[in-house]
Amino acid sequence: MSVRDEVSDEQGVQEQVEALIDEVGETQPQPLFETSQLRGQIAIVTGASSGIGRAVALELARCGVHIAFCFLDSGGQARAEAQDMARHLRELEVRVFFRSCDVRESRDVRQFVNEAHEELGGVHILVNNAGISRDRPLWKMEDHEWESVLKTNLDGAFFFTRAVAPIMRAQEYGKIVNITSVHGIRSVFGISNYSASKAGLIGLTQSTAIELGPRNINVNAVAPGYIRTTRLTQGVPSDVLDAAREGSALGRLGDPQDVAGVVLFLCSEAARHVTGAVVPIDGGYLL
Ligand code: NDP
Repeated sequence: MSVRDEVSDEQGVQEQVEALIDEVGETQPQPLFETSQLRGQIAIVTGASSGIGRAVALELARCGVHIAFCFLDSGGQARAEAQDMARHLRELEVRVFFRSCDVRESRDVRQFVNEAHEELGGVHILVNNAGISRDRPLWKMEDHEWESVLKTNLDGAFFFTRAVAPIMRAQEYGKIVNITSVHGIRSVFGISNYSASKAGLIGLTQSTAIELGPRNINVNAVAPGYIRTTRLTQGVPSDVLDAAREGSALGRLGDPQDVAGVVLFLCSEAARHVTGAVVPIDGGYLL
């Protein structure tokens, strides 16, 4: 090989290396778990006046996300909680839209999404959080106990997802996070309605991820284990909670904030290549 051939070979390699560096440089995420890009976005969080939904909405608001949330107006207490939540959100200097909306009612959900869209100027994030449980062995379970849990936990998420889909598809951007449960993956005695609804929500997550992925919309689920919320502390016997604590690798129950952190991650660009996933937040309960 002549000296001239060697020089031109070297130049070729150099050019290839530079092209590679340029390519890598273009796709390098800036820096990991950056949330500043969320500032100014608009999120809908269902059932956000208490527990996990409240923690999620507050965490998003701390990142500058404007919040629309709904609650079920079942009396003075629910309304007071929602108003208190709205006040906390406004203290974080974000815009807030909230009203009672029953997630089981398709028409009400559509109207809520349209109003939130108009009031806040868009919808970039949807967190399907509203959920209930009505535990009972299946041979004693009443029709209304089955139906109310399935309608709230599964139909509600479907109604909201269907209502935001055209908005997110048109803007070619969206993040949807469904709050399922470890009991949608592995059940225990007396929760056939709850387990069926949460397993269904995992199916909905995967199917929606496939359908909306081509328009740059990420759809994921988180599966909390036992999380310390009022619902949990009031509704679950203490021996069940003790067993859950002892049966998890980390030996503790979770807090709403533990769920909020993962939801925030899934809404951030650090998770832009994650879709259709179900992330357990259970301290190792499922291991
Ligand atoms: P909460 O009862 O504190 O929160 C549930 C929220 O959903 C409430 O704000 C409630 O509103 C709202 N809601 C219920 N029904 C409706 C409805 N028909 N329409 C509109 N809003 C409604 O419970 P958690 O925070 O504990 O639970 C939140 C989610 O996390 C649920 O989906 C639950 O299944 C899931 N989860 C919870 C776990 C836990 O250990 N806590 C574990 C795994 C999953 P209102 O207050 O006005 O009634």
